[in-house]
Amino acid sequence: NYSAIGFIGLGAMGAPMVGHLANKLSPDISIHVFDVVQSIVDELVNQFPNKIHAEKNSKEVAEKADIVFTMVPEGSHTRSVYLDPQTGICSTDVNNKLLIDCSTIDTATSLYVKDYIKNNFPLASFYDAPVSGGVLGAKKGTIAFFLGCAEDDPNLSRVTDLLNMMGKQIIPCGGPSFGLAAKLSNNYLSGTIAIACSEAFDMGMRSGLDPRVLARVYAAGTAQNTICDKFCPVPGVAPEAPSSKGYKDGFRVQLMKKDFGLAVDMAKRVNTKLVLGEAGLATYDGASQDPRCRDLDSRVVYRYLDGNED
Ligand code: NAD
Repeated sequence: NYSAIGFIGLGAMGAPMVGHLANKLSPDISIHVFDVVQSIVDELVNQFPNKIHAEKNSKEVAEKADIVFTMVPEGSHTRSVYLDPQTGICSTDVNNKLLIDCSTIDTATSLYVKDYIKNNFPLASFYDAPVSGGVLGAKKGTIAFFLGCAEDDPNLSRVTDLLNMMGKQIIPCGGPSFGLAAKLSNNYLSGTIAIACSEAFDMGMRSGLDPRVLARVYAAGTAQNTICDKFCPVPGVAPEAPSSKGYKDGFRVQLMKKDFGLAVDMAKRVNTKLVLGEAGLATYDGASQDPRCRDLDSRVVYRYLDGNED
């Protein structure tokens, strides 16, 4: 039901996702890509010379492809990739095309783009489909997709095989922008757990406890959670955690700050009172600007909070 796939935004997540498509799609299906950074486009085309084709802009990708994925940093980028009057996806006729935005952005921008497409191209379909699982998950092909559609959405079967090439789980969240609302509430939860986890370890360690003993206590007790088990903010406790590898190869603290901020805004819009919202946001904002933490995995918030100079 498709002969060409498009992919726009080939960064830390997008590039490995396209790599899976290039490796797994049948040889007669072409992939058309665009990124504002030419060097990463060239790298991908060199890696898959017969499969991946570089296009001049997002419009050209949309002209060539039946299904287009977008994976850009923020709402302003999604807006220009879709709506730029000269070079955007919607500057060509996208009727009958499937447009899937995997970026983590605010729900309002996503709904604005969706409405624009519905009003101008009634036969096109646009979905929010943010992902979870980090850069490592994108490389391994184990990310989860949170889709802004109902379980019985007629287009779901059209993209299931493509999403399965890039990830492991597909969760239809119920309706337009619900994928994003789910993703933002997930990151609010995991972000606050990481802060609480850092504080709990700090008070236990300052009381004389070995952090590995604390980890066993939390795992056996009511505090058991995935951040402690797999992404422990304290180095040397969970061997596979980014913290044990110098906080490398994780979810950048600036991205956590962005998502946390989007979650706090969303909460205001839907009248949820967040006791931990502003405090959490200020913490991730501070860590994002701290030279000891910037560009590292978000669980580096432990280093930011513990006050030690290591
Ligand atoms: P990134 O900054 O590494 O990559 C984004 C890419 O988009 C860049 O290559 C950039 O040049 C390109 N881009 C920006 N504007 C563009 C435009 N107008 N046209 C074409 N290309 C454009 O970011 P990333 O880490 O790949 O994250 C992408 C999205 O996925 C973000 O919304 C992020 O929050 C989300 N996400 C990231 C992770 C992660 O661990 N990195 C995990 C889950 C979700």
